[in-house]
Amino acid sequence: MKFKLTCHQAHRLVIERMDRQLGSFERVRLRAHLVICDACTIFNRQMRLLRRAMRQLGQDD
Ligand SMILES: [Zn+2]
Repeated sequence: MKFKLTCHQAHRLVIERMDRQLGSFERVRLRAHLVICDACTIFNRQMRLLRRAMRQLGQDD
């Protein structure tokens, strides 16, 4: 397995992180990719905002 993630793999990890805890190696690889990739950094930020918004909606139930 290569250390370097493709954007496709990085997106998948960002999405999977919403459902499960990533392993430490996965987290390091994702972080390394986000440092060099603006597109995935933006995608990651949007998913975080979305998750926070969903959590706040859930709290109102
Ligand atoms: Zn990327």
